[in-house]
Amino acid sequence: MNNYVTTHRPSPQRRVKPNGPVWLFDLDNTLHHASHAIFPAINRGMTEYIMDRLNVDVDEANRLRVGYTVRYGATLLGLVKHHGVDPADFLRVVHTFADLPSMVRAERGLTRILRALPGRKIVLTNAPTLYARSVLAELGIAKLFERVIAIEDMREGNRWRAKPDAPMLRRTMRRANVRLQDAILVEDTRGHLKSYRRLGIRTVWIVGHLPVAKTSGGGLSARKPGAGRPHYVDRTVRSLRALTLGMRGGKL
Ligand SMILES: [Mg+2]
Repeated sequence: MNNYVTTHRPSPQRRVKPNGPVWLFDLDNTLHHASHAIFPAINRGMTEYIMDRLNVDVDEANRLRVGYTVRYGATLLGLVKHHGVDPADFLRVVHTFADLPSMVRAERGLTRILRALPGRKIVLTNAPTLYARSVLAELGIAKLFERVIAIEDMREGNRWRAKPDAPMLRRTMRRANVRLQDAILVEDTRGHLKSYRRLGIRTVWIVGHLPVAKTSGGGLSARKPGAGRPHYVDRTVRSLRALTLGMRGGKL
């Protein structure tokens, strides 16, 4: 029988050092303005790819592209699962641009803004690695992030995963040595914020890059994107600059 007394009990005086925040930044429409030129080009490329490989018309291709994004978080997952599309080929074709530098737009002073945020920084994107790294390099901010978790890094064995998959997030965070309670997700897609808030992650909704909704009359909606704060959003900001300006003592 074991009746020895353990000597490894932590002393009550020893304070556990609180961990700083770990920022999880989405890429498109968070770190840069993708709605301007990159998203239209990616969407066009995906639609053409689907028309060509699946032999469908433009309406069906658009329906599949949008439908799979809504259902799985990324068009790729639906194309692999239901149509046996070659993932590497698809990702390469639809994320290759003749002139990426002319398409990338971002906030002024982005480097300074990100540097002002205390804590570790990670990019978490449903886009492929090569594209994500090219955009970060173009923005001049690649060195500010300790790692890029791209869609290739979200796989579970040979199964593709994407945000907002919960087991994927737990797994990638474990691998990156991030406790969920320390993580703050900065993201434009509400569904991802909603899903991950349930895991105990804090959430920032960035709305400055969201396209302004058109009214049925063709005018711009009076309701700005991001008006009103959903219950799963800890903070809504229009820009990353606004995020840093509103921080008090390293808190949201
Ligand atoms: Mg995004």
